[in-house]
Amino acid sequence: MAARNPVERLADTRHEFGEHGGVNMSVEASTTFTVMKPGTMPELFQGRKAAPEGCYLYGRHFNPTVYNLGRQLAAIEGTEAAYCTASGMAAISAAILQLCDAGDHLVASHTVYGGTYALLHDFLPVKANIHTRFVDITDLAAVDAAMTEKTKIVYAESIANPTLRLADIPALAELAHRRGITLVIDNTFSPLILNPVELGADVVVHSMTKFINGASDIIAGAVCGTEEFVQGLMDLHLGPLMILGPTMDPTIASKISLRIPHLALRMVEHARRAQYLADQLQALGISVAYPGLASHPDHELMKQLHCAEYGFGGILTLDLGSEEKAGDLMDLLQNKYGFGFMAVSLGYFDTLMSNPGSSTSSEMTDEDMALADIGAGLVRMSVGITGSMEQRWGQLKSGLADIGAIT
Ligand code: PLP
Repeated sequence: MAARNPVERLADTRHEFGEHGGVNMSVEASTTFTVMKPGTMPELFQGRKAAPEGCYLYGRHFNPTVYNLGRQLAAIEGTEAAYCTASGMAAISAAILQLCDAGDHLVASHTVYGGTYALLHDFLPVKANIHTRFVDITDLAAVDAAMTEKTKIVYAESIANPTLRLADIPALAELAHRRGITLVIDNTFSPLILNPVELGADVVVHSMTKFINGASDIIAGAVCGTEEFVQGLMDLHLGPLMILGPTMDPTIASKISLRIPHLALRMVEHARRAQYLADQLQALGISVAYPGLASHPDHELMKQLHCAEYGFGGILTLDLGSEEKAGDLMDLLQNKYGFGFMAVSLGYFDTLMSNPGSSTSSEMTDEDMALADIGAGLVRMSVGITGSMEQRWGQLKSGLADIGAIT
């Protein structure tokens, strides 16, 4: 039988109904669950019975509504299991703490979201004696050279925030697996577009705050992996989610679950519009980076790795040369033309624009910022799906003309 794609796998998860036959699953509002016999309780605590096969125990451990969203995420990523967290950072921290003990190392891309960079660069060395060697993840020889017998994780973003460089997941998996190292991929920028586990990764993390939720109203995350890995996150003694407690609220899980069925439609539309704007910008001689442009350094690799029907993603960047010019353009686009919002984050239905050097990547040292090639004049655009494409291009072109970037 041919391998099923994520959308087909998602359709197969659709076997829960609401309590009264509702087409949507009910929200399980309970934080604790009854047992019918006193002997069941110790069995639960000894780990001999656990959700999903056995009984639910306590909401921080497993909740049916949160568990259902986890099944949807596992279907998207093609993993045995997934579990949802209170934020993307909680998912990333939990995955790392599950795989690394004090004294262990990671090899990570030097271009990751600023919060992840701070976790690896500042927090984990001080709080847990877990150290990271940052490398250019597109330089496979550098990745190989950075691994030691203490390395437990190779960590990268599928499409890096904000440089949009692509991780060569099959090649990284091969390098990592040769030494028994786990490849963890943050797939926040490319749900459905890239399928890291099919490409060789072991664990996938998401900030569901972004495209997966799509409405910029919820902070959430997920860890996807084998059943054993996900159950381990909930271990009563050493599970980082169970012990540190950044679990998801069931009402949040229910809301996100209701947005997953149109994720595929949204991803296609984000990519269609980003490609259109990138083509137009390039034709006018603006310095634009987008994986769907032949001029992007990873365009050919992306063509090999991505699932073509979802395109090349919804994010592009413009380099305007200086922070001042970047600010002027964003100001005009928000306050004069109504093109989008000056705000961090991404994956929203309207366009969001930010200057990474002074915002989401500002945790990085100047040296690492230069190595990652994050220029002061970079504008990251998460291209929205509202308005007409022609209307949006007209607004963007007017803003660029006002700052003198085009005539
Ligand atoms: N991963 C990436 C690639 C991100 O861009 C972000 C946030 O911007 C995160 C993780 C963190 O996610 P959250 O804000 O949901 O904790």
